[in-house]
Amino acid sequence: MSDTPSRSHGRKSITASLQPRDLMEQNPRLSGVWLAQIITLFPDAFPGVLGESLTGKALKEGAWQLKAVDLRPFGNGKHRNVDDTPAGGGAGMVLRADVMGRAIDHTLRSAPEGAPLVYLSPRGKRFDQAMARDWAQGPGVTLICGRFEGLDQRVIDHYAIQEVSLGDFVLTGGEIAAQAMIDAAVRLRPGVLGNEASAEDESFSDGLLEHPQYTRPAEWNGLSIPAVLQSGHHGEIENWRKAQSQDLTRQRRPDLLSDQDDPE
Ligand code: SAH
Repeated sequence: MSDTPSRSHGRKSITASLQPRDLMEQNPRLSGVWLAQIITLFPDAFPGVLGESLTGKALKEGAWQLKAVDLRPFGNGKHRNVDDTPAGGGAGMVLRADVMGRAIDHTLRSAPEGAPLVYLSPRGKRFDQAMARDWAQGPGVTLICGRFEGLDQRVIDHYAIQEVSLGDFVLTGGEIAAQAMIDAAVRLRPGVLGNEASAEDESFSDGLLEHPQYTRPAEWNGLSIPAVLQSGHHGEIENWRKAQSQDLTRQRRPDLLSDQDDPE
């Protein structure tokens, strides 16, 4: 399994020829590297989309590290059962406290000091860019993916786990939410976006939505790129973008503008 101790590797052992899945098998962990650990019944779902493009390249280069911890081996009995029927009755199954407790204890041993312990849950605090920034500035994150009806409440209470939601909808499991949140955090880490993109003037970075973007061809289906963007006049381009950002935010997300007024 991914966390079987093996011979010691230096950072140089990370080579670009490794497949994304292999990248999670690297042991021991690269010290000081931002580490996302995910407790999941579906470790094969990782790195998933995180293994592609800029996050995947950064993962290959060892700029951040991902470890999927399979919940199944912590299960009970011959069949490694992880769930049971809800106390008090009702539909579905609940992930057992004893099983998840063992998986958490195991995972916390390799969690960097200060990494938040998070249960992905529609009842949680809504994930946003500020949270992504907080996570990116820390040493990493440990995420617990639920399945079925969710997780026994005692585990959440015992470990003082933060509940975080991807949005006001219900997913089948936490894995997609985990990948979305890790993506949002990792791309803010130094060296991940590189020169190819910048996180500086994106949506939410200054509390506003981003201005519209255009690229070649200059004329498409009778539609032209706004003339100002082709003027070469940097000052005017900047002003136009700023005005567009403000208009869009006012129209679509007035809540963001009022958030800015909050004297927090
Ligand atoms: N019975 C729960 C939903 C369980 S959905 C309820 O009504 O609140 C199964 C799992 O999917 C959850 O344990 C959680 O880990 C994950 N999940 C579902 N929706 C999510 C969301 N919006 N954000 C983050 N995780 C979510």
